[in-house]
Amino acid sequence: MSYEPKADVLHKFDTTYQFAEGMNVYNFSPGPCLLPKKVLDVAASEMYNYHGTGQSVMELSHRQDEFRFINIMTKRELKKFLKVPDNFVIMLQQGGATLQYTSLVKNLIKRKPHNKAMQIRSGMWSNQCLDELKRHCNAVVVADNITENDCCAMVPFNKWNIDPEASFFSFCSNETVNGWQWDMDYFPWHLIPKDCPVCVDMSSDIGTYPIPWDKVGVVYAGAQKNLGTAGCAIIIVREDLLGNRTADCPIMNDWKTFEISPDKTYNTPCIWSLYVTGLNVSYMNQMGGLEYYMEKCRQRSLMLWDFIDRSGGYYRSKITDKKFRSNVNVVFRIQDANEGLEDTFLSEAKKAGIVQIKAHYFCPGIRISMYNSMPVEGVSYLINFMREFMKRYPNTKYHAAKL
Ligand code: PMP
Repeated sequence: MSYEPKADVLHKFDTTYQFAEGMNVYNFSPGPCLLPKKVLDVAASEMYNYHGTGQSVMELSHRQDEFRFINIMTKRELKKFLKVPDNFVIMLQQGGATLQYTSLVKNLIKRKPHNKAMQIRSGMWSNQCLDELKRHCNAVVVADNITENDCCAMVPFNKWNIDPEASFFSFCSNETVNGWQWDMDYFPWHLIPKDCPVCVDMSSDIGTYPIPWDKVGVVYAGAQKNLGTAGCAIIIVREDLLGNRTADCPIMNDWKTFEISPDKTYNTPCIWSLYVTGLNVSYMNQMGGLEYYMEKCRQRSLMLWDFIDRSGGYYRSKITDKKFRSNVNVVFRIQDANEGLEDTFLSEAKKAGIVQIKAHYFCPGIRISMYNSMPVEGVSYLINFMREFMKRYPNTKYHAAKL
């Protein structure tokens, strides 16, 4: 297609005030997450009549120039925000991160003749990926954190089961349910065979630190946490990994088919969520880009972890190795898993406007998810609530008075 956008951003935002104002509640949901009010305002205003077309955004055809503009600009904004090198392609598809579990196998397994893939099992999401890999190939579990240590630490690197016959290596950078995150500087990249592309499920921490592009082959994520809204998945693949699909690869999993289709969309894309994601990433670039959001992420997680650690065990995370504590999903128990008190916490928090914080049954307790759109003020507000809660429900076993 010869269409070339004339504007250099999707929408020019006024970034002079912080989006915290006008928020009704602090939504700490694990995803879909909150979006900046300014992004919602623009989306609402453009919804009925997009750029004078008389059509709402949702009514745009994916083969008309207005949508081509949205599609191309969304990828440009993502490339800028995530600092994606030129030898990677960005694809926006439906099916969430989950569909990519299948895509990994169907696009990469043929790289070697052994029908094997390596996977780290570090929590609930990598376990889901493992289950899917097992349906389609021989999945080798490199390290099993679930059975070995209840997802609290990492199996020592010298015990990792590395199989050089595997066609690819897969892991999850941040376990949203467990609140367990890899530090990319600590990850043992040297253990992975050079001819084995590394595929990372970055659904919950994409856009919160620089991606080590020289070490990864595939990165994928649903947009609904740090970048945009549900329905749109972002798949970033190194060019040389395209074009090796299996004969039985379902068409919707075939990366190359998407890449060579007109406008790089094989079927009708998720117009609305792609547009909202593009607007939001455009906004994030105008706010200061990745560096700005990295700093916000650092501030939020430092504040909350520090408060938890100083609560004398009143609030306690089971992840004792601080290296692996997530900066985005913080999971903790109250008074060593006092479930009645946790229920009280949840209901009082809701009354105070702090919502979506009940943890997953796989890793129960309280979970605070702090993605890119969560203002630092939201976390201060939460911490004040937690401090007051300790005063309202004191227990001398814990040294609540210190806070
Ligand atoms: N991986 C991780 C780490 C997730 O947090 C999620 C969703 N919470 C998924 C995969 C699945 O993503 P989706 O719902 O977009 O398929």
